[in-house]
Amino acid sequence: MIQRTPYYVTIACLILMMGLKSCHWNSPSTPINLLIIYPDQMRGQAMGFLGLEHVKTPHLDQFSSQSLVLDQAVSNYPICSPTRASFMTGQYPQNHGVWSNCNSLSSPFNYELPANAKCWSDVLSEKGYDTGYIGKWHLDNPRPPYIDVKNNQGHVKWNEWTPPERRHGFDFWYAYGTYDHHNRPMYWSNEASRDSFHFVDQWGPAHETDLAIDYLKNKGNKFRDDNKPFALMVSMNPPHMPYDLVPKKYKLLYDDVPLDSLLQFPNIPEEGTKWGDYYRKNIKNYYAMISGVDDQFGRIMATLKSQGLEKNTVVLFASDHGNCLGIHDEISKNNHYEESMRIPFLIRWPEYIQPRIDDLLISTPDFAPTLLGLMGFHEDIPPETDGTDYSNLFLTGDGERPDSQLFMSVNVGKEAFGARGVRTHRYTLMIQKDLDKKDQVELFDNHKDPFQLINVSEKEINIKKKLTKELEGWLVKTKDPWL
Ligand code: CA
Repeated sequence: MIQRTPYYVTIACLILMMGLKSCHWNSPSTPINLLIIYPDQMRGQAMGFLGLEHVKTPHLDQFSSQSLVLDQAVSNYPICSPTRASFMTGQYPQNHGVWSNCNSLSSPFNYELPANAKCWSDVLSEKGYDTGYIGKWHLDNPRPPYIDVKNNQGHVKWNEWTPPERRHGFDFWYAYGTYDHHNRPMYWSNEASRDSFHFVDQWGPAHETDLAIDYLKNKGNKFRDDNKPFALMVSMNPPHMPYDLVPKKYKLLYDDVPLDSLLQFPNIPEEGTKWGDYYRKNIKNYYAMISGVDDQFGRIMATLKSQGLEKNTVVLFASDHGNCLGIHDEISKNNHYEESMRIPFLIRWPEYIQPRIDDLLISTPDFAPTLLGLMGFHEDIPPETDGTDYSNLFLTGDGERPDSQLFMSVNVGKEAFGARGVRTHRYTLMIQKDLDKKDQVELFDNHKDPFQLINVSEKEINIKKKLTKELEGWLVKTKDPWL
């Protein structure tokens, strides 16, 4: 059965009608659809409308003017599988158990999304939604005999089929585990067995967008039941590496842009990185990929509008983590720097969520409970959820706000070690704990030092103490063995 009206919309409006603020009065008369666009490795700073980077994102720019933009959103553990599992379950890695990326090195430790975890998609499926997943999943461990495709031919194996019993309520399935050949992606469709995947000679995001458009149009009820509300997630692999696998038309957008104009940040290493001159080599293609994702996102948004679905669909645009691309001598992510942690978070629900920019310190485990809350399923948020339901804050602007976000990074099999930290509106603290070494501590004042060049952990002792206490709060809450 579908709950048709988020009860707190009514309550909030009643309160606000008493003179505190203006508010939309009409509650939705039909169930609310959900559409999530989730590119991989897109840093939150890389959107044109923010004015931080010279990247061309006209569709996101337009969408931002219709959306709540959370410009301080982060990925707590900036790599694929732990964050994706946090998005699906609303739990931190300490509780969903995906302590590292799903691959053949971590598979002996059983780091994969548990089949019995209750994901937001399970909840919506139980509530009568038609649910669809398109693109990268990366929440299953590869199993021998390994599927014979790229990404499984090196020392570490990555790609795996997701059997129907591990699809967490998704009815329509067109996905893969990990496969980075963007110009010739591979997929398992709904009924395909493990051996019957197929390849497509088209840029992954373009192909997935074609399919998402078909899903939205749903000619002949082929993709879903038109009488049911839907929830569709489109999980695009770009702007994930390899960065040169991007159509020429998007590369051309940056042909005339002087490379020097894209090197404005003082934390881009002058002499290149240990990976070569990584930033200079890849930044144009990284931006081209983002422009490509933006272009496909625009196509999906145009279809939503032309199908008359715009008003009644919550749209979320976010990513699993960011990308240093050589900044701080880091090849991509899995660190506490801003470029790695910050992610896009734009959410639109016309007439209910007022367009604005908000500095809420949201992070990935909050997404699922907030989406369920917005859609009227507050009572159905699984009790094991760690994240916070911010739906009321999204709708009214009011509500409790956290003081910090958790950061973490773990080496396979060493859950009690690795890095933990907190990020506040002003500071980032990171403590690296290894078995035989003294703890390494980094503290950045992101107001005075936005490029995180000066470690003030020895100088700002009181701030370090205060933030360490804040971190302990997170570690107690998540029952982290690191503490
Ligand atoms: Ca990723």
